[in-house]
Amino acid sequence: MPDIEDQAFRVIQSRSKGVLQSELWKLLEIDSRKCSRVVKKLLDEELIERIEYKKEGINTYLLRAKKRAVNPALLLAGGDLIPCIACENDCVVEQCAQLTDWLYQLAIEEFNE
Ligand code: SF4
Repeated sequence: MPDIEDQAFRVIQSRSKGVLQSELWKLLEIDSRKCSRVVKKLLDEELIERIEYKKEGINTYLLRAKKRAVNPALLLAGGDLIPCIACENDCVVEQCAQLTDWLYQLAIEEFNE
């Protein structure tokens, strides 16, 4: 994915309620025509959805990232599910031994492949 499309997708993805196309091009510091081309690419790749939207009498679009199903294989290392699922501990990621062990397992698995 070209850099500008990647940037656009990240901006859209970072906003759970979406971003207006009329704001996206300003955020990306590109002109509106280029923004339209970038949005079309993301739509063609089915990464985002576009909803008609009217703001202050002006027609624009609300852009939202599509939710994708998570590949369950990405949550496994050595047959163990990532410990964060259903974890009820007070989370300090940097100090979590369970997560560190899981990540080591993942690294070992990738090294062996
Ligand atoms: S990083 Fe550790 S404490 Fe935090 S959610 Fe995951 S398993 Fe739980």
